[in-house]
Amino acid sequence: MTPYLLYSDGKGNIFEDTSLYAVGRTGWDAVPIEADEWIELPDGGSLYELPGRRGVGIDVETGDMRLCEKGWAVAAFIPPAHTGFFLAAYETMPDAPTLPLFCYTATGWWNDKFFVPATRIEADIRQDCEGYDQKKVESGVSQLLKTYPHNRLVKHLGENCALTYQCPAARNYFLGRWECPVPSSPACNANCVGCISLQPDEEEIVSTQDRLQFKPTVEEIVEFTVPHLMEAPFPIISFGQGCEGEPLLMWETLVPAIKEIRKHTKRGSININTNGSDPKAVRKLCEAGLDSIRVSTNSARREIYMPYYRPNNYQFEDIMESLKVVTEFGGWTSINYFVFPGMTDSEAEYEALRKLIRETGLKMIQWRNFNIDPDWYLGKIGVVETGECFGVKQLQEMIREEFPDLQFGYFNPPMERIKGNYQSDFAHH
Ligand code: SF4
Repeated sequence: MTPYLLYSDGKGNIFEDTSLYAVGRTGWDAVPIEADEWIELPDGGSLYELPGRRGVGIDVETGDMRLCEKGWAVAAFIPPAHTGFFLAAYETMPDAPTLPLFCYTATGWWNDKFFVPATRIEADIRQDCEGYDQKKVESGVSQLLKTYPHNRLVKHLGENCALTYQCPAARNYFLGRWECPVPSSPACNANCVGCISLQPDEEEIVSTQDRLQFKPTVEEIVEFTVPHLMEAPFPIISFGQGCEGEPLLMWETLVPAIKEIRKHTKRGSININTNGSDPKAVRKLCEAGLDSIRVSTNSARREIYMPYYRPNNYQFEDIMESLKVVTEFGGWTSINYFVFPGMTDSEAEYEALRKLIRETGLKMIQWRNFNIDPDWYLGKIGVVETGECFGVKQLQEMIREEFPDLQFGYFNPPMERIKGNYQSDFAHH
């Protein structure tokens, strides 16, 4: 089974080209995709037409690779809980616009269905699209805005995150379940190329969210998080969201907030999603009662990390240290690993990843699709050659074999999974 290439007429209409088989991209190269790497495009996935780009495919007659001249290239945005194995393969025209901050996975058409080279990496259904009833979200928002009339954070989560950005985590909070987002920082000490909350004016693309404009108080944080931890199923509260800067810059507020929360309840997990820049602040949070950390990174290699994160005042080694601190306190450690076929599965990255796992005592890899224009990303970090690659599927198999206790997923686990039998205790709650 090899799906046919898809192309668009530039007006939002997508067609299959039965003279070309679909291929994938890894680094700067177009490559064939194995039959067992394709799955049907999962619910919640969407398709993008890529202006100024011609799709690359394999001629069904000759077997040669060539461009599809019938229209623009097409890519898939695969939904959360799935990891893509290959990017969409295309040739970029000189005047093509930079693509916005989404992931561009390869896609094709077969048997009247859309297919993508990907895998479901996470059993947890917390962000499956069929689980959201928008009417219930809206009534949850209006109810909790009445319950906390003076809480700027609940107002931000309701009006901006849940109802405007359609943030899955915020909507889960207003549905009274699972992971509740707790943004806190208007500032950041990094300058990520693909920052989703702040893009420099000179850049062609815009951030997908606006950054938080205020510093919440301890009281504002504690007021709505304690009831959530006490009442929600599989409860987690998570500092560090896409609509803010770096939460570690707010440690002087988060430490007393965690202490106050734990005075009221021992239930659930208190997690921080962070760039991991300040191990000293992480230590203070652990002393206060932090249970779990997720450090975001595009690479386990300093030379790939630094040109992407462009830190103001910290080094790659600091993020490793932050993971080690949480391990020292017996907490849960994850990396939010931005998967980029051709970079993540290169030999050099594989060796660096093994070293990171061993040295930090890492407990989980969240294999996240990198939401960024591939050409723009590789250009910005100065990568012209990506070297030998294993393929993302094979890389995952090799890591799983060498580190059998290391968990794979896409979301921060609740305490029930951290303390319980990780796999069976939770699937499909
Ligand atoms: S660490 Fe987060 S908030 Fe800071 S620049 Fe990077 S993506 Fe943006």
